[in-house]
Amino acid sequence: MKVLIAGAGIGGLTTALFLQRQGMRCEIFEQAKEIRALGVGIVLMPHAVAQLAALDLLPELDAIATRSAHMYYETRRGQGVWDEPRGMLAGHAVPQFFVHRGLLQTMLFEAACRTLPEGSIHLGQRFEAFRQTADGVTVDVVAADGTITAAHGDVLVGADGIHSVVRQRLVPQEGPPLWSGLMMWRGAADWATFKGGASMLIAGGVDAKVVCYPIGPGTTPETRLTNWVVCARTAPFGATPPRREDWARPGQMADLAPLLKQFTIDTVNVDALVAATGTFWEYPMCDRDPIAHWSQGRVTLLGDAAHPMYPMGGNGASQAILDARCLSDALATHDEPVAALKTYEQDRLPGTSEIVRLNRGGGPEAVIDAIEVRAPDGFADIDAVLSRGEREQIVRGYASKSSVMSARAVAQSVATGGR
Ligand SMILES: Cc1cc2nc3c(=O)[nH]c(=O)nc-3n(C[C@H](O)[C@H](O)[C@H](O)COP(=O)(O)OP(=O)(O)OC[C@H]3O[C@@H](n4cnc5c(N)ncnc54)[C@H](O)[C@@H]3O)c2cc1C
Repeated sequence: MKVLIAGAGIGGLTTALFLQRQGMRCEIFEQAKEIRALGVGIVLMPHAVAQLAALDLLPELDAIATRSAHMYYETRRGQGVWDEPRGMLAGHAVPQFFVHRGLLQTMLFEAACRTLPEGSIHLGQRFEAFRQTADGVTVDVVAADGTITAAHGDVLVGADGIHSVVRQRLVPQEGPPLWSGLMMWRGAADWATFKGGASMLIAGGVDAKVVCYPIGPGTTPETRLTNWVVCARTAPFGATPPRREDWARPGQMADLAPLLKQFTIDTVNVDALVAATGTFWEYPMCDRDPIAHWSQGRVTLLGDAAHPMYPMGGNGASQAILDARCLSDALATHDEPVAALKTYEQDRLPGTSEIVRLNRGGGPEAVIDAIEVRAPDGFADIDAVLSRGEREQIVRGYASKSSVMSARAVAQSVATGGR
C-alpha cells in the first residue's frame, strides 16, 4: 500500500508517521519550500497526546511544550465563572499540552525525516490535481518554477488545510470558508507567570474574549512565553472577511488597541501584554459546513481539509491527529483501499461534524457568554446568575459531546480544552 499525502501540516505529518509505523509506504507533498515555525499557541488534548505517545513522541513533546494544569473561565472584569484541573491533574493517563504550533510541526517533521525512507517528503511541491482508476491514483504536483511532476499511489489523502485544493477537486461547487464575523489577533510575549504558571485563562463574553496561556520558558524564572488571543466581533455572521484567511498575516495595533480597553483582569494586564508583543497576527475565525462525504473512491480528506472548525475546545490540531491514527488503522486492517477510506469516514465524520456545530455555539466558552448576557456589569453572587449545575452542564456537556470518536481512534476520555 502506498499513500500520497497533500500537506505536511500537523495532520499530514502525523498520518505519515502512523503509516510508517504500520508498515505502509507514503509520499508527502508540501507546498512550502521549508518547514518554518509558523503560528502561535495551540492546545493538544489528552486524546491526541495519547496518539503521539503511541508514536514514542512524548519525551519530545515534553521538551517543547508545557503540561497544562488548570483552566479558568472569567468575565472580562476578571470575575471567576468556572475553573477545573486539566490533563493528568484531571485524571488523564497522559498530559494535555500548550505548545507553539510551529514547534510541534517542526518536531513532527523531524520525526518524519528520521523515520521515513529518503525521498518520501517533497517540499516546495503544491498539489494540483488527481486522476484515479480502478488500480490507483495519480497526482500532479507543481514546483515553484512551474514544473509539473506526476506521482502514483494507492490512495490520496488531502491534508492540505482549510483552503484544501483536494477538497476543491472533490466538492467543486463549495465556496470559500464561512466567516463567523469574529476576528482573532494572536501573539506571544515574555510575560509574568499567572495562576501557577501552567494555566489557561479565557475571559470575556459573546463578542469579545481574551485567551492567555504559557507555551514556553521565559527569559527569567518568573516569566513564560505567553500566548494570547483576542477575539472580537467586527462584522455579522456570514459577512465576507476583509481579507482572505491567512494564518501568517500580521495584525495592526490600530485595529486591536480600542478593543483591549474592555478587559480589566487583575491576573493579566491584557493591554500591557499586547503592547509587549512584537509582531502579532490576525485571522478571521472561519469554518465550513460539514459535508456528507470526505471520500471519493481512493481519495479522502483529513484534518482541517475535512472538518475546518473554530479553534475552540483544543480540537483543531487534536482532531487532525485522531484522524491520522484512525485512517492508518483502517488502511492497515483492510486489503481494499476504497473500503478502508469508507471505514475511516464512517468513524470520523459524524463526531467531527458535531464538533464543528458545537463550536459555532461557543463550545465550552458558552459558559462565559451566558454570564455576560445575563450580568453584563458583573455579579455579586454567580449562582444567582447561572447555577453551578448549569455552568457545569455547559462546560462538561461540550466535553462529553466533543469526545465523540470511534473506539478505533483509541480514545481517552476527553476534558474540554481551550485554544
Ligand atoms: C502557517 C499556519 C499557522 C497556523 N497557526 C495557527 C495558530 O496560531 N493557532 C491555531 O489555532 N491554528 C493555527 N493553524 C491551524 C492549525 O495548524 C490547524 O487547525 C490544525 O493543526 C489542523 O492541521 P492540518 O494539518 O489539518 O492543517 P494545517 O496545519 O493548516 O496544514 C496544512 C498544510 O498543507 C499545506 N498545503 C496547503 N495547500 C497545499 C497544496 N495545494 N499542496 C501541498 N501542500 C499544501 C500547508 O502549507 C500546510 O503545511 C495554522 C495553520 C498554518 C498552515
